[in-house]
Amino acid sequence: MKRKEITKPDISRIRDVLSKSLDLQTLNLTEVSALLDVSDKELWLEIFDTARLVKEKVYGRRIVLFAPLYLSNECVNDCLYCGFRKGNKDAVRKTLTVNEAVEEAAMLANRGYKRLLLVASEHAKITGIDYLERIVNAIYDNTGVRILHVNSAPMSVEDFRRLKASGVGVYQCFQETYHMPSYRHLHRTGMKADYAWRLGVMDRAVEAGFEDVGMGVLLGLYDWRWDVAALIAHSRRLINKYGFGPHTLSVPRLQPAQGSAADHLKYRVTDEDLRKIVAIYRLALPYVGVVVSTREPAGLRDELLSLGASQISAGSKTSPWGYMKEGDTEQFEIGDTRSLEEVMEKIASLGLMPSLCTACYREGRSGERFKHLAEETAIKNFCHENAILSLKEYVEDCATGELKERLMKMLNEEIAKCSNGLIDKFKLIEDGKRDVHI
Ligand code: SF4
Repeated sequence: MKRKEITKPDISRIRDVLSKSLDLQTLNLTEVSALLDVSDKELWLEIFDTARLVKEKVYGRRIVLFAPLYLSNECVNDCLYCGFRKGNKDAVRKTLTVNEAVEEAAMLANRGYKRLLLVASEHAKITGIDYLERIVNAIYDNTGVRILHVNSAPMSVEDFRRLKASGVGVYQCFQETYHMPSYRHLHRTGMKADYAWRLGVMDRAVEAGFEDVGMGVLLGLYDWRWDVAALIAHSRRLINKYGFGPHTLSVPRLQPAQGSAADHLKYRVTDEDLRKIVAIYRLALPYVGVVVSTREPAGLRDELLSLGASQISAGSKTSPWGYMKEGDTEQFEIGDTRSLEEVMEKIASLGLMPSLCTACYREGRSGERFKHLAEETAIKNFCHENAILSLKEYVEDCATGELKERLMKMLNEEIAKCSNGLIDKFKLIEDGKRDVHI
């Protein structure tokens, strides 16, 4: 990378980069570096605006909603920043039984969630593949949850094959930081101390058949500009090798946690930095889902929805059994404590459309096929109609009061503009059919 070239990016060069993103082309690292180097506030406004346009071009107005379901906080690792770390002697440890996981998943499904992200800390004996397989099968067999994604420790190709065969949608794992000295300082013991084992996790997942993988860095462990560029470089390497890269990029930011031993301020990521990161992910890899976690405060999360984010968790708890009982050790402090209903209400008030869609996983739109559909702007048509159908189901089964009225009004306006085919599907839901999608 020529440093001279990127220290003072000229406006026309940045506009060329933005127009490449608007054409839904993946940016190279020199272009990403040019964006990272912009300091002009006016130019950032243009960048933010372009990120919003790119998101709308790929995914339309829909914002997908999901909830995490924490399975276990028993961990063999000692990541200095995490409340679940082995060295946190004050942590109250808990691993859900299969029945407890089903109970929490069923409760979330009854609230309207159709996609859950299962989260487990690393403990091969307690939360290894046998456990995950039993949990996934039991939730699919006994609840209305339609797709389970999994965030768990890296595993072997053989174990990934079993996880994939159980019907998991996205396998998610974050490198935390790509900066090796920082990684080594923060992860001193346990399996996670092996940087290379973690770095190769997505290759093993893809080899085992996962076409949808979720990636990220924990922002604030090292200089965010460096880690953002490294994550994009890793994503580009996967695209070059397999024809598809990450299905989602998440933007977790380091937050205080009970029992954490990390310095939260050394590489502090400000709110403005986070806005820039969301926009850069959107522009660098236009087809990806950009996921905002519950760590962030409500107002900032709402803002990020207009800067390129496309998925958001809602009503989350970050401790095992947290939906049933509060007070146990959380992985991190939650910034947005709003319920699913409140988040939906807010999304609708922003002129966006809350979506509980799971259609692509049910229809095999994944990996390279998904990437092409997104880059050809075809996915947004699926997203739009499936958002309508999933919301209709939510209105029939779960919504009450003012939110119900608001969503019904939105649906009536949308359906008036839709094809006869969609109207027929809409009526099927009114007649009691479920999981209607295109
Ligand atoms: S149509 Fe596909 S990409 Fe769009 S919201 Fe549904 S599952 Fe996601």
